[in-house]
Amino acid sequence: MEKNGGASRKGMVRCPFCARLNRVDLARVQHRPSCGECGRPILLDRPLAVTDADLQRVVTESEVPVLVDFYADWCGPCKTMAPVLDELARERAGDVLVLKLDTERNPRMTERYGIRGIPTLILFSQGREFTRQTGAVPRSRLDDLLASVPPGAASSRRSK
Ligand SMILES: [Zn+2]
Repeated sequence: MEKNGGASRKGMVRCPFCARLNRVDLARVQHRPSCGECGRPILLDRPLAVTDADLQRVVTESEVPVLVDFYADWCGPCKTMAPVLDELARERAGDVLVLKLDTERNPRMTERYGIRGIPTLILFSQGREFTRQTGAVPRSRLDDLLASVPPGAASSRRSK
């Protein structure tokens, strides 16, 4: 089966330098997209920080699955997860958008998604919660979650 079928794979990514939200073609991530505002490279090889202000928009407007790590700095298991998520973001750049949300600084989204334990990883597909996982898990578990997203789900939004 063709992996991406030429489907559109746009994602919303906040520039870490000037904070502008960019709409990036994740299918072309290897071509080093740059920020439309400041021109600096948009790096997708690590989890990107999101906040109360932009989580919803980034999730809704991204055509690829979005994995959000709800974490806190003081949380030991979150520190265990960090390198696993770094690796996932690097190796699956363009297939999935990996985000992280600091639950201490962003109470509104933490409340909205009913986060009771951290780390909680929520996988979104087509702007909606697809599944979630609480507690530190190995990389293989994350790959399983991603593999469970129905193929083609990411591109069906285009038809509306
Ligand atoms: Zn910028």
